[in-house]
Amino acid sequence: RNSGRLGALNSEVSGSNDAKNLRVKLVLLGDSGVGKSCIVLRFVRGQFDPTSKVTIGASFLSQTIALQDSTTVKFEIWDTAGQERYAALAPLYYRGAAVAVVVYDITSSESFDKAQYWVKELQKHGSPNMVMTLVGNKADLLEKREVSVEDGMEYAEKNGMFFIETSAKTADNINQLFEEIAKRLPRPTPS
Ligand code: GDP
Repeated sequence: RNSGRLGALNSEVSGSNDAKNLRVKLVLLGDSGVGKSCIVLRFVRGQFDPTSKVTIGASFLSQTIALQDSTTVKFEIWDTAGQERYAALAPLYYRGAAVAVVVYDITSSESFDKAQYWVKELQKHGSPNMVMTLVGNKADLLEKREVSVEDGMEYAEKNGMFFIETSAKTADNINQLFEEIAKRLPRPTPS
């Protein structure tokens, strides 16, 4: 599962793509601590393991899902591995990414502000047809909520993003997140 392949930073949509089987690079962005690694581990391994850090930069995790129309999508998932601060590296990180997932923590309005910063960065430097997603994670911590569903939704709508609230802890909406992304991917035209 852990396809730790080096030097694949720009793999994007590569030669092995056909109309039925897509392979896409997905990057995660957002403040440290919002749950990016936990989302990936929940999706790829079906576990919630806050102690296990995905160290990316040298490797990434990949996961393939099948859609109802019998197509498959292989996500090559890149996590910032704690490099969020090095904004200057970002354009290199998300070059060639077909999907960007910007994550905030619903219990931290500061992380929501940071998410908006990343969205602006992506609008400036990312590929224009990137599938952009806004994720409000830690939705299980309702009693600590600082960012309303409406605020998340409204911001996403304004910026042409898909929006969802998730919990990596309870697994709520994690698979749905990736399925919805898969449905929104542009399909190569069959030759
Ligand atoms: P990252 O820095 O964005 O990769 O964040 P991590 O995935 O390392 O998660 C940071 C902390 O948030 C960890 O202590 C996790 O246990 C916790 N966390 C992550 N996702 C959730 C969630 O959905 N609910 C709750 N309650 N805690 C979470």
